[in-house]
Amino acid sequence: MDNLKYWHQFFYSKEITMKVFQNLIAMFSFFLLLHMFAITTEAKNGDTYEVIVNSLHVRDSPSTTGEIIGTLQKGNTFTKLTEKSGWYQINYNGEKAWVASNYVQPVEPLQDDIFFSSGALSDYTIVVDPGHGGKDPGAIGHNGVLEKDIILTTSKKIADYLNSTGANVILTRTNDKFVSLDKRIEISNTNKPDAFISIHYNSFSMENVGGFNTYYYSYGSDLELANSIHTSLAEEVNLRNRGVLRDDYRVLRYNNSPAVLIELGFITNSNDLLVIQTEEYQSGVAKAITNGIKKFLLE
Ligand SMILES: [Zn+2]
Repeated sequence: MDNLKYWHQFFYSKEITMKVFQNLIAMFSFFLLLHMFAITTEAKNGDTYEVIVNSLHVRDSPSTTGEIIGTLQKGNTFTKLTEKSGWYQINYNGEKAWVASNYVQPVEPLQDDIFFSSGALSDYTIVVDPGHGGKDPGAIGHNGVLEKDIILTTSKKIADYLNSTGANVILTRTNDKFVSLDKRIEISNTNKPDAFISIHYNSFSMENVGGFNTYYYSYGSDLELANSIHTSLAEEVNLRNRGVLRDDYRVLRYNNSPAVLIELGFITNSNDLLVIQTEEYQSGVAKAITNGIKKFLLE
């Protein structure tokens, strides 16, 4: 009898414990969900957008019949507060206003990796050398695409990424002008950068030859820099990996700093050419090269 009572109490109290426990779990889950929802909403509401048309009306209500209270120009950015059937609410001169969502696009953060915004390379100088330029077009690819033009776009992207790490970046040319090889060497040897990277695209008489490769001249730091950048590129780039090669390029041979020359694809190969002209590829290689330089300098 005593035993029975004991067991009864035991089960009874266990049942209560279970109920309290279940309630706690339910409450915890509820707050967890609430918290997650709040974070998601906050992240979505914090999105930055850029105007992609020359002029965009700002209206007082989310409709084309809303009163025009101002205009935004191409390239202007704003934070979306909320959205309503094709319209984004924004802060405009301290007031809530609306713009049509068709004429804006989200601004992609440059890179979410912490290192890119941490000023990791703030003590370093990098010379980025966009090959060719002006009267020297470099290689000529399909559809008359000029090596010098793609090089400049890519090099500016690389400079942007390097800048975002805090590095002091020097470009040997920033527009379509001719710069001699000796001038490029002089720019490097005068500024004594921690790394010199020459950017090129390749060409060949046979259309099926494609891929990317990295050149160095001297063993030691040139080779080390080449390996670091190339390893990083290989993780990012889907073109054929032609490896790290030694060659006697003037900008490398007479350079007093660790120097490499990178060929980022063949403009005479139609597949390579399609890929290398995409924004995705350009940003990808810029990120990878920056990462490779960072590893070379810091690790
Ligand atoms: Zn070239």
